[in-house]
Amino acid sequence: IIELEGITKTFGTGAAAFQALKGVDLAIARGDFVAVMGPSGSGKSTTMNILGCLDTPTSGTFRFRGVEVQSLSRDQRSMLRRRYLGFVFQGFNLLARTSALENVELPLLYRGETKKARREAAERSLDKVGLLPWASHTPAELSGGQQQRVAIARALVTDPDVLLADEPTGNLDTERSVEIMELLSGLSDTGITVLMVTHEEEMAAYARTIVHFRDGLVERSETGVRAGARAGREGVT
Ligand code: ATP
Ligand code: MG
Repeated sequence: IIELEGITKTFGTGAAAFQALKGVDLAIARGDFVAVMGPSGSGKSTTMNILGCLDTPTSGTFRFRGVEVQSLSRDQRSMLRRRYLGFVFQGFNLLARTSALENVELPLLYRGETKKARREAAERSLDKVGLLPWASHTPAELSGGQQQRVAIARALVTDPDVLLADEPTGNLDTERSVEIMELLSGLSDTGITVLMVTHEEEMAAYARTIVHFRDGLVERSETGVRAGARAGREGVT
């Protein structure tokens, strides 16, 4: 569903220019659950932003669902983003004074859907993350893990093909993080392609594919790791 070939990204110009990505090659199959790992500054977020059509590469080819993204106009790219991609940002980005339900409805408001359609879709989405009973609560009245699940529900409300999550468990303790991993893992089982950035081996072990970044390049990529990790945790060898 995603193909990156020789993707580079340079920030700034002249003497201040910095090459954050130096030729990233990566292919992601539909329905995969991918953990992106690597040291700070290795280009993980830069890559996620390109995949999310929030930023454009300096050179290289990015194909999404077989379409070359660079050949699209700015408007076509935002349409692609709204139609096929769901985003979970580091640190939730929820509106503080707005209920969980209204937060989840937001992407549909931008799409111009009716109030009734928005409400129904938002309730379905909150239900998927197990938070329907908390629909009327504001973020301040929810725990960190619940807030992150609201952010995931918001990303899911448009029925995306791909869910991009940059450090979705960055602010959470192990128990909450494991809940989020189980949620993401379940979503990938329903056919959604999930890509998440994480620093934690323990969380990456939930993914099916692990991509390691180093110095603006994909250093290596392992696939089919999930079964092994699961068995390992259960003490089976
Ligand atoms: P972390 O684990 O700390 O989140 P990361 O792998 O996500 O790191 P990126 O955010 O992709 O790293 O950044 C890669 C490099 O590009 C860093 O050296 C960063 O300083 C630089 N960089 C990122 N965004 C910009 C920008 N908008 N302008 C200039 N430099 C940038
Ligand atoms: Mg980052």
